[in-house]
Amino acid sequence: MTNQHLDMLSEIRARVAAANLTRPMRVRVGYEGSRHIPLIDYGERLDAEVVARTFEQDKPWPRAEMLAHAPSDLRWAIKEIEYLRSRVAALSHFAFAVERVRWALENPELARLERRRAEEAAARQALLAIPIKREGECDSGCRRYATHELITERDGEVVRREQRCEECARVRMAGRQSAMEAGLWPAATMRLEPIARPGGEGERG
Ligand SMILES: [Zn+2]
Repeated sequence: MTNQHLDMLSEIRARVAAANLTRPMRVRVGYEGSRHIPLIDYGERLDAEVVARTFEQDKPWPRAEMLAHAPSDLRWAIKEIEYLRSRVAALSHFAFAVERVRWALENPELARLERRRAEEAAARQALLAIPIKREGECDSGCRRYATHELITERDGEVVRREQRCEECARVRMAGRQSAMEAGLWPAATMRLEPIARPGGEGERG
């Protein structure tokens, strides 16, 4: 391995870019003698380029499907890793800035508190500027699909609708419940409803 690439991510990104597979690939039936075999082709017409033969015996052909989805799955994964790296960097930067404010408060004789606070505010702004979810994802920013709607009602009127995954919605509900019991949140009723997903499991962001 040469030093041409910065890291594994840039290696993968370069391979995906070089392959230039931007159109969808699909699995179709081919023939090997009298046997049906999966062919992965690239293109719409009969003379579409066959990019892989997997010779799997039985339908469905999971290996062929995996290979056919690989380019778009990899593009998705590259974007996700880039996003997560930027978010981790912003979070680390913010944590460091908070720590510097704490240090400045504890060491007043050395403190440049104003400057530390300004740095912390800037780091917070940079962090908040990064969107935590994509279309169709949980409002909590956990990156899972939003499968449920958390509906809050007060006096018979819906006051809030939140799109979340079931796990985050339940955590949220439990948190609000204890906040209500402690008198920290105004009384309300909450319920969880599944969201109908026309695209189903195979949907991609
Ligand atoms: Zn979630």
